Amino acid sequence: MTARPPTFPTSTVLGYPRIGPNRELKRALESYWDGRSTYQDLQGTGRRLREETWRRLDGLGLGALPSGTFSFYDQMLDTAVLLGAVPDRYRGGTDEEAYFAMARGAEGVTPLRMTKWFDTNYHYIVPEIGPDTSFRLDAAKPLSEVREAREHGLETRPVLIGPVTFLLLSQAAPSAPAEFAPLDRLADVLGVYEELLRELAAEGVEWVQLDEPALVTDRTSAELDAVRAAYGRLGSLPERPALFVASYFGDLGDALPALAATPVEAIGLDLVAGGLPGLYAATPGRPTDEAARPGEIPGKLLGKLLAGKTVVAGVVSGRDVWRTDQERALAALLALRDQAGPAAHVVVSTSCSLLHVPYDLDLEPGLDPDVRRRLAFADQKIAEVVELAALLAAAPAGQGTTPTGQGTTPAATRTAGPAPRPALEHASGHTLQPAPVRSPYAVRAAAQAEHLRLPPLPVTTIGSFPQTGELREARARLAAGELDEAAYDDLVRAEIARAVALQEGLGLDVLVHGEPERNDMVQYFAEHLDGFAVTRNGWVQSYGSRCTRPPILFGDVRRPEPITVRWARHAQSLTDKPVKGMLTGPVTIVAWSFVRDDIPLRDVVFQVADAIGDEVRDLEAAGVRVIQVDEPALRELMPLRREDQGAYLEWAVAAYRRATSGAGDHTQIHTHLCYSDADQIVGAIDALDADVTTIESARSGARILDEEAIGDFERGLGPGVYDIHSPRVPSTWEIEVALKAALRVLPADRVWVNPDCGLKTRTYEQVEAALTNLVAAARHLRGDQ
Ligand code: GLN
Ligand code: ZN
Repeated sequence: MTARPPTFPTSTVLGYPRIGPNRELKRALESYWDGRSTYQDLQGTGRRLREETWRRLDGLGLGALPSGTFSFYDQMLDTAVLLGAVPDRYRGGTDEEAYFAMARGAEGVTPLRMTKWFDTNYHYIVPEIGPDTSFRLDAAKPLSEVREAREHGLETRPVLIGPVTFLLLSQAAPSAPAEFAPLDRLADVLGVYEELLRELAAEGVEWVQLDEPALVTDRTSAELDAVRAAYGRLGSLPERPALFVASYFGDLGDALPALAATPVEAIGLDLVAGGLPGLYAATPGRPTDEAARPGEIPGKLLGKLLAGKTVVAGVVSGRDVWRTDQERALAALLALRDQAGPAAHVVVSTSCSLLHVPYDLDLEPGLDPDVRRRLAFADQKIAEVVELAALLAAAPAGQGTTPTGQGTTPAATRTAGPAPRPALEHASGHTLQPAPVRSPYAVRAAAQAEHLRLPPLPVTTIGSFPQTGELREARARLAAGELDEAAYDDLVRAEIARAVALQEGLGLDVLVHGEPERNDMVQYFAEHLDGFAVTRNGWVQSYGSRCTRPPILFGDVRRPEPITVRWARHAQSLTDKPVKGMLTGPVTIVAWSFVRDDIPLRDVVFQVADAIGDEVRDLEAAGVRVIQVDEPALRELMPLRREDQGAYLEWAVAAYRRATSGAGDHTQIHTHLCYSDADQIVGAIDALDADVTTIESARSGARILDEEAIGDFERGLGPGVYDIHSPRVPSTWEIEVALKAALRVLPADRVWVNPDCGLKTRTYEQVEAALTNLVAAARHLRGDQ
């Protein structure tokens, strides 16, 4: 870029939801996949959703509109297609067949791997890159979206995943040699980005956004060299749009000077999850008393680093549903403007894409007005961005030199803004009673052996049984007031009886009630605890066409009355075998909710832990002998930077122990963690001090059973011998092979036989066949038959 870069408008967002305000894309995708509509129909829905989005953003007064944030499945997958990185096994049919085969699999091919997008609940498709992947530009999507927006009279900024993040998040193709890493192909990939930038320039595009969130996680110096090389090379292209490199979900750390030294015209900073030195006191996401971290750039260097650049300041959170504290956000913007100096241009933005929040609070008329006043969904957040940009423009320079977090805003601008966010009801600093300590495992194991009298290799399941259509329909009718509570309860009781009878008949050792009363393992508890609100339409994309409706944890969490006890009591009354009480753990409840930000996350989790702890005690008092407290999200909340992870695991484990340590020695506590890399946190799993841990390992080659990974793990373990994610029924023989692997490292009384997750998404037919084989394998290995 030789001439002066075009000026970046004063407000923007990094991205916007795409599933549709009424989940139109979900419906269109599922109908197309089922063969009920054509690809043209699907494209029509896409076009309509994009048009509505642009018109909406424009109507809300946003300065710069993004394009390309729409996707039929996922933005990483779109980038793989853009670069022509489609593995051969998916080719052969039409482009859309290849696209959806990579996303979801097809006849004879499994899909690409899917994994969590940083520390969010969004999941992306992991591209596969090998030494001989042939890259070739396919610019159809970015170009057509730019043109499409122009048909509506709107100019947009194409948003793409940046080359470094793309390669860092890709996996090596299965055929690649062990020493190969996708980043080795950076030079080739950059060639394709160059070609794309040339095409976009020819199209008259002024700005391009390249997302590089991978730069907020720990990076080696070789990776930082890759950042310098990549943006040095793209920056020196003569014919190109201005480059805006966006970071989000944390601090850029050492990547900031690396990036700032390249010719890129704009850098995006997440001032909610991250921060800048000297700005900590004012950044919305940081407690006011937090000191700068070691190793970060001293404030005075900032001006030098950012001189001549546009700084896109993410001060409105794209990760939560709270209204922005306008005063604090403005203070951060003013301080940033002063520190960055007169040679920098500050743009107001969201901290990340708004993909992670629901569309519009106006679609939620049923919310309690007191809660509602504190909330902002995507559209409300855009209005905040626009408002802050106006306030910033109106504020004279020199206002932000001593940010204190409050009071730096001139009175005139303060009154011009909206009312400050009302204070939350919780007076922070609530005192925690110390949790009781359970006896050592050996003492408990002896008490439990006596109390439960289980055979070696006990057989159990993870909790849920198939959720029938009848049950879902009944729940909808109950919510709509068409079915009364008593009729619904009868239905649930009958479903519990069915699940219990099936397990008894098949010969399982520790039964479950099947969770028929639960719509979702988090929402169910949120609906029964004080301090939570649930939405009707607050859908957020989880992956592809899948959405979740995270509850909103807005106040102090308390359990007004027992939640699961009556169902547990009913189930136990039907059998002499122990039936597990089934609860969701405090970390998971918090991880899958939108959580208040006025007190530390740890304190919120501890409050939830105490509520779950009350339930544990009540279940025990009701005669429940085995209680499972699930923590499938324990790893999800893990901070992105290694230096923060130890402290997190410490309090997360402490919260779990608070929830479970009220149980007597004879009560067996189980936990379930479903992720494939449990082997990496064996220490933390052991520290949870659950008597039995069931994990997902069927799909991941049971790495946890390596002698080294398992170490001296001294409690019970159910490695998960049946992959419930597939309709396939495992044979007795393969279950035995998996169990023998466990028996090599653990004694038979500590090895449990179970599927790798809940059975909710399977049919009764599949479940019955699989559990029959599970029991047969256990009996055979015990020598019963
Ligand atoms: N108990 C839950 C179930 O079986 C656990 C689900 C999960 O791990 N995600 O459905
Ligand atoms: Zn699971």
